[in-house]
Amino acid sequence: MTESEKRFDEVISKLRERRCRMTPQRVALLRILTSTKEHPSAAQLHEQLRTQFPTTSLATVYKTLNLLDEMDEVLEMGFSGDDRRYDGFNPRSHPHLVCVGCRRIVDLEGTVVDTMTRDAADRSGFRVIGHRLDVYGLCPSCQARE
Ligand SMILES: [Zn+2]
Repeated sequence: MTESEKRFDEVISKLRERRCRMTPQRVALLRILTSTKEHPSAAQLHEQLRTQFPTTSLATVYKTLNLLDEMDEVLEMGFSGDDRRYDGFNPRSHPHLVCVGCRRIVDLEGTVVDTMTRDAADRSGFRVIGHRLDVYGLCPSCQARE
């Protein structure tokens, strides 16, 4: 089983525990959301979902995203003046690289931020619930296009 398949099963069983309605559209959306590392927007998810379910509305996508957010099963990232982006593969706080050219978002691997967060909690007495770190720049393909 791949990591994406494991993540998909995990989300499905959590939704079942809460007795949430599992329509074929919702299952398909969860499949897309847990298998991508592209950090799609709701509109991009909607576009992908419509290839299988042409009549699905954007509101349906938001309904599922809001539910997952409430359950802390999706990481929602807001950007001023731009669409929110979603990470359903890894819902816990983790740092990202953001391309200001094409808006590509990739996970930034490493444990420095986790160490920093633990250290901050120890020093301040805060009970940390999350963090946000975006490293901005131009991705390799945008640099090549310059
Ligand atoms: Zn991510």
